[in-house]
Amino acid sequence: MNAWHLTYDGFDPAEEGRRETLCTLGNGYFATRGAAPESRAGEGVHYPGTYAAGCYNTLSDTVAGETVENESLVNLPNWLPLTFRVDDGPWFRLDAVELLEHRQELDLERGVLTRFVRFRDAEGRLTRLAERRFVHLEYKHLGGLQTTIVAENWSGALVVRSFLDGTVRNDGVPRYRELSSRHLRTVCAQPVGTDTVLLEAATSQSHIRVAEAARTRVLRGGAPLAVERTLYTGRDEVGHDLALELGEGESVTVEKIVTLFTSRDNAVSEPALAATDWLTRVGGFDELLERHTHAWARLWRRCAIAIEGNDTTLGILRLHMFHVLQTVSENSVDLDAGVPARGLHGEAYRGHVLWDELFVFPILNLRVPVLTRALLRYRYRRLDRARWAAADEGWAGAMYPWQSGSDGREVSQRIHLNPNSGRWVPDPTRLQRHIGIAVAYNVWQYYQATGDLDFLIHFGGELILEIARFWNSVAKYDHSRDRYVIRGVMGPDEFHTGYPDAAEDGVDNNAYTNVMVAWLLARALDVLRVLPEARRVELTEALRLTSRETGRWEEVSRKLFVPLREDGIIEQFQGYDALAELDWDGYRARYGDDLRRLDRILEAEGDSPNRYKASKQADVLMLFYLLSADELGELLERLGYRWDAAMIPANIEYYLARTCHGSTLSAVVHAWVLARAHRHQALDYFLEALRSDVADVQGGTTPEGIHLAAMAGSIDVLQRCFGGVELREDELRLDPYWPSELGVLQFTMRYRKHTLKLRVSSRRVHVAANTGAHRPIRIRCRGEYAELGPGETVTFHAPTGR
Ligand code: BGC
Repeated sequence: MNAWHLTYDGFDPAEEGRRETLCTLGNGYFATRGAAPESRAGEGVHYPGTYAAGCYNTLSDTVAGETVENESLVNLPNWLPLTFRVDDGPWFRLDAVELLEHRQELDLERGVLTRFVRFRDAEGRLTRLAERRFVHLEYKHLGGLQTTIVAENWSGALVVRSFLDGTVRNDGVPRYRELSSRHLRTVCAQPVGTDTVLLEAATSQSHIRVAEAARTRVLRGGAPLAVERTLYTGRDEVGHDLALELGEGESVTVEKIVTLFTSRDNAVSEPALAATDWLTRVGGFDELLERHTHAWARLWRRCAIAIEGNDTTLGILRLHMFHVLQTVSENSVDLDAGVPARGLHGEAYRGHVLWDELFVFPILNLRVPVLTRALLRYRYRRLDRARWAAADEGWAGAMYPWQSGSDGREVSQRIHLNPNSGRWVPDPTRLQRHIGIAVAYNVWQYYQATGDLDFLIHFGGELILEIARFWNSVAKYDHSRDRYVIRGVMGPDEFHTGYPDAAEDGVDNNAYTNVMVAWLLARALDVLRVLPEARRVELTEALRLTSRETGRWEEVSRKLFVPLREDGIIEQFQGYDALAELDWDGYRARYGDDLRRLDRILEAEGDSPNRYKASKQADVLMLFYLLSADELGELLERLGYRWDAAMIPANIEYYLARTCHGSTLSAVVHAWVLARAHRHQALDYFLEALRSDVADVQGGTTPEGIHLAAMAGSIDVLQRCFGGVELREDELRLDPYWPSELGVLQFTMRYRKHTLKLRVSSRRVHVAANTGAHRPIRIRCRGEYAELGPGETVTFHAPTGR
């Protein structure tokens, strides 16, 4: 890995899944895994997959005697297939030839994946392939593949087969393979004109029509080459066989340009028409590539990030930024789609949307705020569903689902397979009601970053109020404590689904939830203050929000119970203290150092993590991640607790010793919370977050999709944590703790309409504003203030590193 390229030399079947995920190309509308064009799912180690944002379908099965419904992001027809054969020999497959050279390179700067292959076949023929592909950033419905074939020491009849493959299934995750996986039915597969074919399919339940059209042409020396073209059709497949003669030393280039449309798209009559129309309009591969790379150059300017003197770290950070921007981009702005936890890169979590956007939005708010606005509207459009969900359980307001896909209904699975034991076990993770807090937090952060009052007026305010209302109704007054309590939920730590041997799932008074609910209720009251009077009246009328109810918000926000021990340790939830300590050393001795999936280990032993003080990921520590020490202090004081920021390190130490980091989110949060007091440990976790996918640290999960939150979170650790960027009270606050070993950080961000270039080193922070006609902003760094107007710069000399 260098600063702009991810390169793989050689072909390693064991690594192929991870590579395909990391070499995925996408544009926020659709993405295609970096699988070889000649490969097929189910043949060896390859898994070609193409997914369009928001394109879901539900299938049902009977598992362990129960009917289960699973909504999945659908694997769409594979547009890549391109293979060839010589003199009626076998079709080219990597595993059937002697590989002399194999090199793949993902060019992050230009958004291009290339592959060079040199091989000897059974007849001794030496052949070279050079392949390039893109998923177009500017024209979001377009993908392109170009393959040059060189006959090194042979001549003969070459037949190239290029087709669209509609036989695909959702088979990417081994654990789901016992379940049905065929979401598509082919509607038509036919030629259109001379060089184009069309494949149209429909999803079985959501009835989404998907059309792909492929135009394949052959060129020599840049000029079209006449070839003998025959239609190729297989079951659910359509394409062309292109026959030509190739002389020794000669080369030929095949270009496949593909369009993808669905019936969910705007501005189309019907997808097949759009797919074929577009192909008659667009130029060749090189012309399209040029526009594509220009689009990436523009996007990179806006999302620039550099670390002087640290190319490997920088390369991974850029890879992370690249994949975030391929999952959600300006192409997503007009879509009705959320942020899938595993990107558009694989099928883990079935492409569902969880709370991971909490880790993604901070980097978008400061770069492409229009995108966060659009993604928050995904939540707004599902507000009524969230209201129904709350009402169904007897609550008021809006209860957001832990996992959602198409329409905002809860789609978390109810049972899941433990591969260690082979058992299907109950899965109550839907009790992570804290996801609603994340939605509200994201609205408020977006508003802080942009000052976009319009958004608060039309959408965001209502979201915050309705989520606050939900929590207000869940919080019950407990006479014995003279405090409000929240029972029967799960915190972010998925290992604690309930109390040992209890009949009901859920824990009481999860500290993260309760403190954040206090935060949320206070923000909801702020919203009512910030909204212009007319809108406030309108909204309170429409929501039938009375002063009695908001009065209770005020009271609950001051009297929620937080399980804070005498010694200042915040108990993860009420009763956590009474749980047994896990014999970590004993488990390490038995199962090795990697206890990330301790839950599976314990279940396979007939035990349960519910019995132990053992966490999958940061839970209490999420508070120190989301709230600055000042803000948390103010909140706990408002709640009437004795709290001192000096207690933070003891809490970190306490939970760090009891966490196995079974989620990649954990490293991000730990890097963050350790940054102030334990720089070296913080750096270790930061490096671990960087390794999440490039090294597949969770042992086999990267082939099933990227860990989007860890990717975005690692960038955010640099910018907001080490870089100390905080947006509060209409100020840009800079309080860097920059580790000098990382070099010098430079990045571009947007704040209140200004484009700012920041340069952070261990000694100073330099901020330069682009020219324009915006109001000056207020910047504060360690007690020094500055007003920065367009075209101005400011340098703070405070020592910022450790
Ligand atoms: C984590 C969740 C996260 C999900 C998707 C799980 O392992 O526990 O917090 O939302 O992965 O990234």
